[in-house]
This record gives sequence, structure tokens and C-alpha cells, in this order.
Amino acid sequence: MFVITERQYNIIMHQAQACWPQETGGFLGGRENIILGVLPVANKFLYDRTQTFGLTSDDVDRAYHFLVKHKLEYLGVYHTHPTGVPYPSEQDLTHHQKYLFIIGLQDRYNPELYAWRVEGSKVYREDIKVISDSGVTVVDIKTGKPKLSQNTSKEEMEKLTNMINSLITGKEPQYLRIMPSKWDASSFSTFA
Ligand SMILES: [Zn+2]
Repeated sequence: MFVITERQYNIIMHQAQACWPQETGGFLGGRENIILGVLPVANKFLYDRTQTFGLTSDDVDRAYHFLVKHKLEYLGVYHTHPTGVPYPSEQDLTHHQKYLFIIGLQDRYNPELYAWRVEGSKVYREDIKVISDSGVTVVDIKTGKPKLSQNTSKEEMEKLTNMINSLITGKEPQYLRIMPSKWDASSFSTFA
């Protein structure tokens, strides 16, 4: 199971909407299956970008430095299926990744983020929980510098730690579920 903060979840979902109908994606880093770093990447595929998400070796290099700098483990690549379901394609499975993170935009205004664990030719769905980011150190993707969220108190940190511990042990804690909303892609063009 993966845990993602509301902030990181929103970055991915906004990017998915902003780039639609093209595919887009990026890299995810974290610690112990908690996603703490998101590095969005522009689609470099030379041909039809509505069908394929392409990365260059420069992107991989940038991702490596991003992860090292913030002491994050590599978790995987995420990418969108602008008109499809969030299920790995045959092509996705040729990349020999342990995890695949896919955003399905078949219902454009109700996108779904799925995580898949790949074992050979078989895939298993991993749960993703979205939690509030109060008290979490977040990485500003523009400056690349980690910054503490404002007004972080000791209680908030403890609350978050407990929340994450409960998630890991399989209890169902109180967490913030992000409801789908109407995204306005026209106001966002950073990754177009
Ligand atoms: Zn795919």
C-alpha cells in the first residue's frame, strides 16, 4: 500500500488535466511506500503524445539527483492514460518496473490514480491512501528545496505519525479522502 499527501496528489492530478489529451507523467520518490516527492516531467515522445509518454536519459538523470538530494527512495514512474482505464498496457509492462502508477482519465473529471505491483507478467493492485499534509515536509518542485509546511506543531507531527502507523498496520484511521472535483485545465499551462 502507498500513502500520498494531499499536496502531492494534487500536483499529479492538476498535471494530468493540464496536459490532457496528451499523456504526461513523472517520477515518484518516498520513504517506506510513503510518497514524499513528485517530479513532473514534460512528455518527450517525438510522435503522437496522446498515445505514449516519453522520457529522455536527461529526465532520468534529473530524477536521480532529485531523489539523492532529498534522500528519497525511488518508487516509480507515473503516467496518464488520457482516454483509457488506469490499467498497465503491454508496453507499460515492458519497462521492468516494480511499481507502475497510472492515472486514468477515461472519465476526465473523475480521474483515478492506481498503483500496480508488477511480478513478471502479472500485476497486482496496491491501495493508495491520500492523507492531509499538515506536518509533512514537502518539496517545492519549483525551487527543488524542501520546505516545512507552515505552523507545524509537535502534535501535528505526532498525529501524522500515528496516522501513518495505523495505515501500515491495516487499521482504518481518519484520513482525508480527496473527492473528485471539476478541474479547470485552462488556468494551468506549466506542463502543456
Ligand atoms: Zn501506460
